[in-house]
Amino acid sequence: MKRRAFCASAAAAIGAAAFPFGRAFAAVPAVTADVTAVTGDGRKILLRAADVEDLRAGLRGQLLLPDVAGYDDARKIFNGMFDRRPAMIARCLGAADVVRAVRFAAAHELLVAVRGGGHSLSGQSVCDDGLMIDLSLMRGVRVDPTEKLARAGGGALLGDLDRETLPFGLVTTTGTVSHTGAGGLTLGGGFGRVARRFGLTCDQLTSVDVVTADGKLLEASATENSDLFWAIRGGGGNFGIATSFEYRLHPFDGRAIGGPLVFPFEQAGPALRNFAELYDRAPDGLWVEPILTTMPGGARGLVLDVCLTDGLESADAVLAPYRRLGKPLKDDVGPVRYVQLQTQDDERARIGGRYYTKSGFLKQIDDDLVDTMLGIIGSAPVPRARIAVPPKGAAVNRVAPDATAFWHRDALYSVLLQASGDEATEDAGNVGWARSQWPALEKFTAGFYANTNLSETPTARVRDAYGGNFDRLLSLKRKYDPANLFRLNANIDPRGTATG
Ligand SMILES: Cc1cc2nc3c(=O)[nH]c(=O)nc-3n(C[C@H](O)[C@H](O)[C@H](O)COP(=O)(O)OP(=O)(O)OC[C@H]3O[C@@H](n4cnc5c(N)ncnc54)[C@H](O)[C@@H]3O)c2cc1C
Repeated sequence: MKRRAFCASAAAAIGAAAFPFGRAFAAVPAVTADVTAVTGDGRKILLRAADVEDLRAGLRGQLLLPDVAGYDDARKIFNGMFDRRPAMIARCLGAADVVRAVRFAAAHELLVAVRGGGHSLSGQSVCDDGLMIDLSLMRGVRVDPTEKLARAGGGALLGDLDRETLPFGLVTTTGTVSHTGAGGLTLGGGFGRVARRFGLTCDQLTSVDVVTADGKLLEASATENSDLFWAIRGGGGNFGIATSFEYRLHPFDGRAIGGPLVFPFEQAGPALRNFAELYDRAPDGLWVEPILTTMPGGARGLVLDVCLTDGLESADAVLAPYRRLGKPLKDDVGPVRYVQLQTQDDERARIGGRYYTKSGFLKQIDDDLVDTMLGIIGSAPVPRARIAVPPKGAAVNRVAPDATAFWHRDALYSVLLQASGDEATEDAGNVGWARSQWPALEKFTAGFYANTNLSETPTARVRDAYGGNFDRLLSLKRKYDPANLFRLNANIDPRGTATG
């Protein structure tokens, strides 16, 4: 894709006054009072009204303060458990807005939260009393079918990518729920239904525009700032704000064989044990996610969520052994559009629901793990408890662990323990239950995903997310963000400790 020259300093120097007719929104009121905020290290500071007004007037998007219409909607994120109130929300419309917001935050050492799709399970994309830099209006996707590339804005959702690429007979790896943000998912790694064929989402990147902590807009690619390009493929949001991503696309006609295969809970043990052996030999095009859950009607069961995207002509033979893992209660596996599978969980993963999740990577599914998972779900007192075991392997594992910042290439699955609810009154029960059960599962895990678990992971453990890549990431953090402006993530503290 041809790159257009962009001069960050010139763009950042242009204020709204230069474009009196160009505002995309009703103007928000001028800032006339000083603003109380906090710095990254927790100090309370007073921002002068004139400085905040200068930021507001210079944005093409909006600067929302708590008394401005739209503030309460803008601070909401996917996980309804987080009800935080930033001092200011910069709703950016382009890279120049992001540059402005980052320079302002750096100059005042503000606590910064970066919101892409807002799906951080641990609420990292919103903060109390800091500056929330909101990319959710930057969702454009442009496909170049000739070069097989897609460029997506830093706030694009996974569904935006699928919807724009599939009509061209092209696809890239995304995750399993279409309203998840591509930004956070890509920077941390990115698993989904075609990852075993094409690799992680971060493996699809060819170039990324990144606003670094010094307020510069850099291109990161194999040839430009290649150290930054290495770090942002798995290093999460530690190194800057990605204002756009360019992804490699793969030919795909959009047809799949998939859907749920459901077994009664009594058959789940033998089914899961045999599944593990069977799936070791699965073709790259077959993605099967086992989920132990409570089904509509209240009975517990094992769901195998199936998606075959390659070799459809042999589907019957490939899928027959999975059907024979037990006596299915329901077999809805059949021809389906891939995009239908990509949106089937959107409602279950309701925006605004309250989710508590613990997770880690697995190198195998062994008998002890199966027994532990059955024990946990079989005795779960909370109605919406589930354990999902999404697969990795194949193309994900064929990349060297130090080729990108994503270290855990030898993982074959993740295990996710989740308890969710709709009301705040359910939180204590759900959180308490999941915390009490997690140690039994955690002992089977080897490292964890930078995109989950963060808020209560002990400092020393955050290193486990980056494994043998940690030291290189630390030196790059010191180069690109020495003051740790971008700290609400699986944080690599430039002082040498990792925090979450
Ligand atoms: C319902 C649901 C389904 C999921 N399914 C999958 C899945 O199938 N596969 C998978 O791999 N993961 C999955 N995840 C985990 C997902 O990868 C993370 O939650 C990820 O952080 C979501 O990205 P986001 O942009 O929506 O998050 P946000 O909450 O907006 O951001 C999270 C963090 O990412 C960083 N960030 C986001 N955008 C940018 C950007 N443009 N530039 C710099 N930093 C940025 C920031 O550090 C921010 O704190 C799922 C999560 C949920 C809630």
